[in-house]
Amino acid sequence: MEERKKKTILIAVIVACLALAGIITYATYPRQGGIPGHFSEQMTWVKCANPDCNQAYQITKKEYFEYIDENADPRSPATPPLICNQCGLPSVYRAFKCENENCGTVSFYGSGSKPGDFQDRCPKCGHSNTQESRNKSRQE
Ligand SMILES: [Zn+2]
Ligand SMILES: [Zn+2]
Repeated sequence: MEERKKKTILIAVIVACLALAGIITYATYPRQGGIPGHFSEQMTWVKCANPDCNQAYQITKKEYFEYIDENADPRSPATPPLICNQCGLPSVYRAFKCENENCGTVSFYGSGSKPGDFQDRCPKCGHSNTQESRNKSRQE
């Protein structure tokens, strides 16, 4: 084979590889810009909705959003549940931990709040992390 033909084939292969990589990246990250890099260091609480399990644990935001991206149903606005690492059922949703030092309960967003209230109102002690931080910034 002559040198020029070889080069043309080589370029065609590289272009094909780049195009394929682009398709894969696009399929994995349908959201614009993908998942921010710092999400791999930030943790988020999740909790199992199975009443026999109630397992609460932390995963990275990256893990969480990657899972949501991959498993979201485009026809439904609902967040897909994660697979529980304790009972194995698809019943794990994002949660928050009460920052009241005497409480520390992990609950689902909205489970302790009335409509229009802070979503992170603790159903156990009534503490809200958002309200607390707003009160603090008002005092300063
Ligand atoms: Zn579970
Ligand atoms: Zn609490």
